[in-house]
Amino acid sequence: MGEEEAYEFVTSTLEKERIEPYTREESEVVHSVQQCINCGICLSHCPVVAAVGIYRFSGPRSIAVELSRSPPEFWATGDTIYLCTGCGTCMEVCPKNVNIPEIVNMMRSRILRFRPDLVPKGLHVVRETILEHNLAFVPLEDVEDKTESRDMRLEHYGLPLIETPEEAKSEVLYYPGCQAEERSQEVREAAKIILDRFEVGFTMLEDMCCCGLPSRLMGDKDTAEKLASRLKQRIDELDIKKIVTTCAGCTSNIGDASFAYDWNVPVLHLVEFLTDEVGTDKLAKAFTKPRGKEKVKVTVHDPCHLIRHTSRQLMDKALLLLDLIPDVKVEVSTAADSCCGGGGLVAYHSKDVSKAVVKENLEAIRLLEAQRVVTPCPLCTAQLEDNLFQSGSSIEVDDLTVFIAQRLSNKG
Ligand code: SF4
Ligand code: SF4
Repeated sequence: MGEEEAYEFVTSTLEKERIEPYTREESEVVHSVQQCINCGICLSHCPVVAAVGIYRFSGPRSIAVELSRSPPEFWATGDTIYLCTGCGTCMEVCPKNVNIPEIVNMMRSRILRFRPDLVPKGLHVVRETILEHNLAFVPLEDVEDKTESRDMRLEHYGLPLIETPEEAKSEVLYYPGCQAEERSQEVREAAKIILDRFEVGFTMLEDMCCCGLPSRLMGDKDTAEKLASRLKQRIDELDIKKIVTTCAGCTSNIGDASFAYDWNVPVLHLVEFLTDEVGTDKLAKAFTKPRGKEKVKVTVHDPCHLIRHTSRQLMDKALLLLDLIPDVKVEVSTAADSCCGGGGLVAYHSKDVSKAVVKENLEAIRLLEAQRVVTPCPLCTAQLEDNLFQSGSSIEVDDLTVFIAQRLSNKG
């Protein structure tokens, strides 16, 4: 083959395989993969591999290896790359700090850019929802419907209604996230009750928009960045000095954005805000006295986005908080820190995989004979609640924010 012929062959192959050189950012990720020593530790810890087997999901080590494959095989990863829940367990146990969840995001981003036909349909639907509404769920358009749903939830949980403060310049922004804004409204209301109870001046956005995590997880980097800069613009307009969230995903994602783009705005989960800024003395005095002789036996689920993507200390703080509440006895489940299967947008296209992953948690919870499960994340709450209910269990699941608000005494 002559030089010219060879050149043409290479150019047409690149075009046919839709290959573009790695960006600088992508090159860094690829470089991190080269640290992999093929030890396989990650493989034996991956909850998806454990739940569905290596033939359905080839696991983190193979994800790292796919990057060095030839383009047709690279695109073939489309079959498995979407089954990763992004739990971060592989990254936590890896002796070489290979960041598999970031590699997954990068591969999804390349697939979305060059081969959108390989992206599961369910993710295209979420993407369109975000592009249209700036939220991960289609919002309830009728204000009355939304108010009615909120009031029913407040009644169900025995919580009072606290008026939402008007959007105004404030030091503290309470950011509920899409799930608490549009679905689990009791979490948003409970956070308002708690902040009001401790006389924390705060504001909320009138035009709540997604933090960008679902976009990032499906590989839609452009939308993720657009949403992050929109949030930053609102932060600047309102002179926000601190963001408080009640969702594990929002905590880690906004925290990452604040760090990456030098926002200089700390992002705290409400649990951390309460233990560190309100203080345990005030908290202990605010909880109601024991109601009966029997303590409520609860167990805790640790959201991946808190323990592996933010800090394990956050769950120590959650346990400290629970310990201050009279009437509550915490039993730690052996699967407390195991992924609930609700991450990585897996449930949007492969519900069977998401269900298989949560099984380990459900078994461990059942063995404890706990009455309730609490977790500081509305998404984990929904995933555990649905699956416990479908399995015929009578164990109740509470978002920790709601659990706390229900046990506070009145002001004064
Ligand atoms: S992030 Fe979790 S699900 Fe994904 S490969 Fe790693 S251990 Fe498996
Ligand atoms: S644990 Fe890390 S070094 Fe070992 S195979 Fe997995 S990615 Fe490679």
